[in-house]
Amino acid sequence: MPKAFAASMCALCGHRPSSRLGEHVWPRWYLEKYPGGPGPYGWFLNGEPLLRRDGATPVREQELTRVRLPACEECNSELNRRFEEPAKETLRGLFGTPTPPALTAAETTAVALWFLKTWLLLPHPRVYYANTIIDRIHRDMRWPEPAPPDFYRWTVTGGSPPEGLSLWIYRARSETEDLSWRNGRRLVLPTVRQDGRTMRFASHEVTLHGLTVTLAVHPGWPIDHPLEADGRAVRLWPRLVTDALDLSGFPLVPREDSIAWSRGLRVDLAPGALGSGRLPPLSLDPMPALSLMSSGLVLGAAATSGR
Ligand SMILES: [Zn+2]
Repeated sequence: MPKAFAASMCALCGHRPSSRLGEHVWPRWYLEKYPGGPGPYGWFLNGEPLLRRDGATPVREQELTRVRLPACEECNSELNRRFEEPAKETLRGLFGTPTPPALTAAETTAVALWFLKTWLLLPHPRVYYANTIIDRIHRDMRWPEPAPPDFYRWTVTGGSPPEGLSLWIYRARSETEDLSWRNGRRLVLPTVRQDGRTMRFASHEVTLHGLTVTLAVHPGWPIDHPLEADGRAVRLWPRLVTDALDLSGFPLVPREDSIAWSRGLRVDLAPGALGSGRLPPLSLDPMPALSLMSSGLVLGAAATSGR
């Protein structure tokens, strides 16, 4: 018996009751073409593979995992109109071959918006994974309550995405190989405090059909993605609407070169530091910002539990 949302409010508009089953975050057209879902792939938290209860076996999603979010009929239709219809043919082509086809600028925009919408919904704090093991483990990967409304409202109001969201894409060497590796390339996304407000920067990364797509939430503080800097990853958002995308010539990135996105740092910033253009970009450890405490932009920093 699938979980029913009929007593919940819609997580997108916030003011209408959800339909009984809500929104399928992996849409029906996708699950029909790939009935196994996006896997198998591993799950990572703070750059470490998530392990089963035995403490040794990496969790891998092998079976169909439906992901649902409380959403009303109107918002469901709007997501379909704005994101699924314009992108699904292109995505079928992108996911269907080992060598990604070249996309036009219009196709790239549709694909970028689809990834942005889907990667925002996957870690929504009210999302529900049909696989109970994945649902339990995934709780640690979700964003904290309450979900910031501006991350979600734009998807159903026709508005533009908020500032501070980035998406990158690269070709992954394999999504089925041994997951017991450890990654030394760590990029710490801090929890930032400024002017009495706290904002937890966050990321969500999924590898599917040979492509790794990463979303980062980092308003006012740029990120230097190491794989973008060395020409192996492409920024999908924000992007120029005139930019086309051709990944066919890009190298396959081995697991050990991927980036471990992690948390565990709190940074207190001086008033006006975010968005000033004066903060050095977040990049691989050691974080250059900490060496700039004398600049007056960073008032303090402390290690945290990582959650
Ligand atoms: Zn709604």
